[in-house]
Amino acid sequence: MNIKQNVNLSEFTSFGVGGPAENFALVKNSVELEEALRCTLPDTELWLLGYGSNSLISDRGLPGMIICTQGGEIKVSGNEITADAGVWWDDVVKKSIDNNLWGIELMSEIPGSVGGSVFINITAYGQSLGPQIKWVKVWDRKISETRILEKAELTWDYKNSIFQKSENEHLIILQVCIELSSVPKDEVTYQKALDVAEELGLDLNSLDGRRETIIEARKRAGSLWHPNQDYNRTAGSFFRNPKLTQQQADTVMKYDESGKTKAELKKMNQVHGGDQRRVSAAHVMLAAGFKRGQTWGKVKLNDQNLLKIEALPGASAQDIFDVVRLIQTEVKKKLDINLEPEARILGVF
Ligand SMILES: Cc1cc2nc3c(=O)[nH]c(=O)nc-3n(C[C@H](O)[C@H](O)[C@H](O)COP(=O)(O)OP(=O)(O)OC[C@H]3O[C@@H](n4cnc5c(N)ncnc54)[C@H](O)[C@@H]3O)c2cc1C
Repeated sequence: MNIKQNVNLSEFTSFGVGGPAENFALVKNSVELEEALRCTLPDTELWLLGYGSNSLISDRGLPGMIICTQGGEIKVSGNEITADAGVWWDDVVKKSIDNNLWGIELMSEIPGSVGGSVFINITAYGQSLGPQIKWVKVWDRKISETRILEKAELTWDYKNSIFQKSENEHLIILQVCIELSSVPKDEVTYQKALDVAEELGLDLNSLDGRRETIIEARKRAGSLWHPNQDYNRTAGSFFRNPKLTQQQADTVMKYDESGKTKAELKKMNQVHGGDQRRVSAAHVMLAAGFKRGQTWGKVKLNDQNLLKIEALPGASAQDIFDVVRLIQTEVKKKLDINLEPEARILGVF
């Protein structure tokens, strides 16, 4: 295993910020990941990174050992796809479509690794990954062994997984098996996707049509990112959609701009966040007075989607963190709502 010291982590995140890793290993598949984990003493502080598209890393860097997993194998067997943790998520989606399998096509082009996707339970356009997972192979740091977590041991919630719980920090994702369907499932209900399909004449009853629709919708929303390419520097939506009291939800839903009725909005909340009172964090920010394109020095809210906090050239991680705190404080003060980050804030700020 090739371990380097003082590696600049800004090159490994979509924000393009972050200080040095004390010790750093870049591994290219799950075999190498397991080897790296076997060589890391159980009491060493350990941080996992995929493609860094959901992480804000401190300017002071991270102590201990940082293992970055990029790459690996994808295998298809019947309705099941097994992928290494470091595989680029969209390669799994492409493989599912090539094999005429339904269930993850609406999550086309979500940036990041399979491991990161499981960790956060990625969700987009009405589909979520978690419930479709059959098993996860993990490295258990407590026993220094691999083991398989079966479906019954895995619980999922909106943008949440057991891997985010502090008591499960010892479980590192090595490989994942996803169970898909050979017949169509999930309706496309997201208005912006329906509009794109209609405008471009795309067939939402075909996997290719769905993928093309979603990629175009994501392009329009500024939701595409690939490593080493010139995109806005964000971590996607920085905050989770919060679950509110009915009264708060009613106030915030007034900021919807799609012209939907309250009943339709509640249905959308149910579809996307599993609860009628889980409202859009973007609407919460609008209700608190934030504006698209609003800028503080070298940090900006995206021109289309104010949930995407952008790092402008020269921004530091601390600059971004300060804006995050400012938004949370204002939202709490004005609306008494706690906005929780969806992106991972790693290290000391
Ligand atoms: C432009 C843009 C658009 C986005 N759109 C969406 C979207 O539509 N829907 C959505 O859900 N997300 C979205 N995201 C967020 C991001 O794409 C996902 O969270 C993605 O799954 C992160 O993967 P990653 O490998 O980059 O994670 P990283 O940032 O590298 O890691 C994220 C977290 O996962 C943990 N982790 C990573 N690998 C492992 C492992 N092997 N074992 C245990 N823990 C691990 C890390 O410790 C870290 O805490 C978007 C991000 C961007 C930049």
